[in-house]
Amino acid sequence: MKHTAIKDALQAKKFDEEITICGWVRTRRDSKKFSFMELNDGTCFASIQVIADSEIDSYKNVLNASTGSSVKVIGLLKESPGKGQKVEVHAQKVEIFGVADSDYPLQKKRHSREFLRTIAHLRTRTNTFGAVFRVRHAASFAVNKFFNERGFYYLHTPIITASDCEGAGQMFRVSTLDAINPPLNEKKEVDYTKDFFAEETSLTVSGQLEAELFASALSKVYTFGPTFRAENSNTARHLAEFWMIEPEMAFCDLAGNMDLAEEFIRYVIKYVLENCEEDMQFFNKWVEKGIIQSLEDLCKSDFERMTYTDAIKVLEKANKSFDFPVKWGIDIQTEHERYLTEEYHKKPVFITDYPRDIKAFYMRVNDDEKTVAAMDLLVPRLGEIIGGSQREERLDVLKKNMAKHDLDEETYSWYMDIRRYGTTPHAGFGLGFERLIMYLTGIENIRDVVPFPRTPGSAKF
Ligand code: ATP
Ligand code: MN
Repeated sequence: MKHTAIKDALQAKKFDEEITICGWVRTRRDSKKFSFMELNDGTCFASIQVIADSEIDSYKNVLNASTGSSVKVIGLLKESPGKGQKVEVHAQKVEIFGVADSDYPLQKKRHSREFLRTIAHLRTRTNTFGAVFRVRHAASFAVNKFFNERGFYYLHTPIITASDCEGAGQMFRVSTLDAINPPLNEKKEVDYTKDFFAEETSLTVSGQLEAELFASALSKVYTFGPTFRAENSNTARHLAEFWMIEPEMAFCDLAGNMDLAEEFIRYVIKYVLENCEEDMQFFNKWVEKGIIQSLEDLCKSDFERMTYTDAIKVLEKANKSFDFPVKWGIDIQTEHERYLTEEYHKKPVFITDYPRDIKAFYMRVNDDEKTVAAMDLLVPRLGEIIGGSQREERLDVLKKNMAKHDLDEETYSWYMDIRRYGTTPHAGFGLGFERLIMYLTGIENIRDVVPFPRTPGSAKF
């Protein structure tokens, strides 16, 4: 079915030639002699205006083309006299693929994002969601481009795993056992040796451990795939299924890790600003006023770096009544993160060297033995967007950490082998892709930057 994408039609330089376009009717207005249709095919933000003379043979199709209907228009591409649009199509023939019933929910009025979430199968036909998902595509392309240009190899880590990366719960079990009558062992516990994988398995929370194995062979790798967390936190920045980007580098320390994270964020922002101009203009005007300027400023300035210990001092002096009281040893909460990045530094800030007791077993222990070489990147509007660290490469220290976290050495023997056979200083981080999209678009709820959100109590579509 040969036709021109509306994106290309709108950029045409040659006029008065025949063109075929396809799309969905956004609006239609009829006067005595003409009908005007706004046609959108999602290839770009803008719709194209179609003018149909009531004298054309297929005019009855025009009158049937209700909002939401899918149509094909053959006509002449004309330079438009009207202001606001440069081109329009003068229809010669209009065909309908499918009429939209009159209860089509996306009629012209504005809808709340909450309502649109309930019709996620249709919401991508709105301005906002069309723009979100084009930006999501561009950012995703930029992620792969960035790493490819820097010699990182793309690694597909497994989704089903028998290990728990954080050494804590909150995972989704994967099992084919009979849920009503599972086989039991002598202790009357579920006998997972009878399960599909002959052991207890779950959906992965992170591809990091496997990325470390690959970095120990290919030097620089990254994963970009779905991860799952059964955390029952119904917030605007947590999903049960989200996409994570995880680079891992051999022969790299914490400073090198932060340099990469900073360069990465800037690169993706720049790419999206350059390649999604129209969509970004929309967010700038209707979603987060001034977002383009603030992203451009960000690309020019350096990010702050500050130790956890200094951050706690700043928070203690902040003269704010936080819900969670501040003292050395606490996990920094969202309210603290936002104060540090939005009010204190007024720009992105890396917090480094967290207390050992609140961080994962694989993070490298610092010489003070109280802190680890961890870093979180906090950004205005969101708080944490990246969590990363230099990894513990010393076998004896790693073993002690694992014992402290009650981790079984046998389950992780392969992870420890990497420290046994040519260990290297290495580092990496994890960045939640949806948080990055929220940051780029100004959309406040993470459910609105993922095609079909999975959250507690909701897995529709
Ligand atoms: P948070 O404190 O915000 O829950 P976390 O400390 O659990 O984050 P990490 O385990 O370090 O996060 O994961 C790395 C990154 O993955 C985070 O910086 C964040 O961008 C993203 N992330 C973590 N949990 C979620 C989630 N449930 N939904 C979406 N993104 C997430
Ligand atoms: Mn979390």
